[in-house]
Amino acid sequence: MKIAEITEIVEECEDVKTFFVDKRFDAKPGQFAMLWIPGVNEKPMSFSYRNGFTVKKVGKFTEKMHELCEGDKIRIRGPYGSSFSPKNGKIEIIGGGTGLSPLRFLAENLKGEIKILLGFKNKKEVFFEEEFKKYGEVLISTDDGSYGKRGFITEHIDVDANYYYVCGPEMMMKKCSEILKSKKVEYSLERYMKCGMGLCGSCEVGGYLVCRDGPVFKDLPEGFGEYKRDATGRRIKL
Ligand SMILES: Cc1cc2nc3c(=O)[nH]c(=O)nc-3n(C[C@H](O)[C@H](O)[C@H](O)COP(=O)(O)OP(=O)(O)OC[C@H]3O[C@@H](n4cnc5c(N)ncnc54)[C@H](O)[C@@H]3O)c2cc1C
Repeated sequence: MKIAEITEIVEECEDVKTFFVDKRFDAKPGQFAMLWIPGVNEKPMSFSYRNGFTVKKVGKFTEKMHELCEGDKIRIRGPYGSSFSPKNGKIEIIGGGTGLSPLRFLAENLKGEIKILLGFKNKKEVFFEEEFKKYGEVLISTDDGSYGKRGFITEHIDVDANYYYVCGPEMMMKKCSEILKSKKVEYSLERYMKCGMGLCGSCEVGGYLVCRDGPVFKDLPEGFGEYKRDATGRRIKL
């Protein structure tokens, strides 16, 4: 566990901030760390940079994170989990919401003809557009058409790419897996986590532990898109 100082905070859009810290981690794209604010909670966050995390305010822990200032300290353990395997060739990255965090770090490590499809609910939630433009051609869609193309990002998938990397809302990933059957795809999954290192079983899906066997998987485990587990470990139907 490292105690890191926040050196810079970037507001990406409403409710999303990137926190840069004074420590660089030996992390691979797709891996995550457990961020701990004593007295609040400890939560998994993907590396969006080797020294940065991009966090959406959704609940108690992330609200507290958004209150932190440059110079404040945060405890970090990791990196944990599996990583994306960067490939060359005709590549498509498909992301939505905070799924963009690990994909940004991945994009930096890819070579080839890269197309990046980013889906958001509306214009207010769009972030990382300029970041991704550094690495390839970017196409954005919003559900309500307030920015980019109207509709779901899955409508714009090109099935002729050689390799796909996907991270985003569960139903978006499920839809991608239907469209990209028999294609080479890597998915990064999100599940409720406590230990982050294969001990507690909170993040089990289809017999796999997302923290230890994932979060990056080549196939979606059985039950993904059908159930998740709550803080007590109980299965909840999606
Ligand atoms: C491997 C891994 C990597 C992750 N990487 C990131 C990351 O890079 N950036 C990031 O912001 N989050 C990331 N998350 C998700 C983050 O850990 C959770 O959102 C976390 O639960 C937030 O804690 P909280 O106490 O603020 O909210 P909680 O109290 O846990 O959740 C509050 C409410 O928000 C809902 N919620 C949880 N997550 C989301 C979400 N992503 N979008 C919308 N609603 C949600 C919950 O269902 C709940 O109702 C990652 C999760 C995993 C497993």
